[in-house]
Amino acid sequence: MTGVRVAINGFGTIGKRVAKAVQAQPDMIVSGVTKTGPSHGCALANRYGIPLYCTDDSPDRIRSFDGSEYSVSGGLSDLLSVSDVVIDCAPGKVGQKNHHTYLEAGIKHIFQGGEKHELTGISYTSCSNHSQNLGVMGTRVVSCNTTGLARTLVPLREVVGEMRVECTMIRRAADPGDSNKGPVNAIKPVLKVPSHHGPDLMTVAEKIDITSLAVAVPTTIMHVHAIVAYLPSGHGLTTADVLSIWENTPRVISMSGSSDGIPSTAEVMEMARDIGRPWGDLHEIFVWSDGVSLDGNVLRYFQAIHQESDVVPENVDAVRALMDIEQDWRVSVDITDRSIKESFS
Ligand code: NAD
Repeated sequence: MTGVRVAINGFGTIGKRVAKAVQAQPDMIVSGVTKTGPSHGCALANRYGIPLYCTDDSPDRIRSFDGSEYSVSGGLSDLLSVSDVVIDCAPGKVGQKNHHTYLEAGIKHIFQGGEKHELTGISYTSCSNHSQNLGVMGTRVVSCNTTGLARTLVPLREVVGEMRVECTMIRRAADPGDSNKGPVNAIKPVLKVPSHHGPDLMTVAEKIDITSLAVAVPTTIMHVHAIVAYLPSGHGLTTADVLSIWENTPRVISMSGSSDGIPSTAEVMEMARDIGRPWGDLHEIFVWSDGVSLDGNVLRYFQAIHQESDVVPENVDAVRALMDIEQDWRVSVDITDRSIKESFS
């Protein structure tokens, strides 16, 4: 097998999904994934036939796998030495500690949205700035929320130009696998106002002046964004035109809450399970078509984000940008999504 050799450092919620998506690509192979120690996640790597490494090089850490049912091929440096690019999927703020290791190894690197934009000085979303990321040494795939905002706002900006946006992010309290987080019986506003979520979009998309409020609610699957966008005068669009822009945008799904029978995130996730992707993932951003209203210059709409998976295909496209193997973001997105679909059918 040939292709770009992709290392995945951190094999948790995002890492395992990214590994499976990279494995599906015709121009990439997964050179290895890392675990901090022997745990049930190692069995998944074995099942995928992916070589397993330890997250660091300390002999004690590597030896912790001895006597377990999982064998490792070495530490992080060993994995980097057989790879062309590393996708860091360590917990938020932990990835930055790996940065110097990647720089010392001279390897291209991709961080996730839990790290700060300043770490790499450039961030990534396929529809926003694929071309700016061509050939760069390191980038950061923006968070699930920022990815969601980019998917619907950037194509709109392409048509109308500059706009101001206010967004309220109704955020899931924890991922399904987190037993130590909350709130369980409360609605928790983020009291840092405005929140950092919306403005992060400005790290990848120009001409969208956005602020946000955020609130955490006791659910584990999906965020909902309530978005108000102020379009420039003379935009000439109708609500139907806006929906049609999103219909022509990759990785956006628009369906009716009433006539399609999808009134809430619960039904969106049920539909995602019906699609048959592993873990019941939904890579696309879901817009309720009957919840979109353009009144004069003011566009209001709701969208739902499957937080564990919308960034997954973005990581694949970011590899193509960094390795400079596909300059056209739409072509890359098409290859990524088709390959993932074929591998799961
Ligand atoms: P996670 O906790 O589920 O997985 C992280 C994995 O990294 C774990 O297996 C952990 O053992 C391992 N790890 C621990 N220390 C490490 C180290 N030093 N080096 C490498 N790996 C190490 O976290 P996650 O949810 O997959 O998040 C990973 C990144 O993706 C974060 O930056 C997060 O903000 C971002 N992100 C998460 C979500 C989400 O909803 N979970 C969505 C978008 C982006």
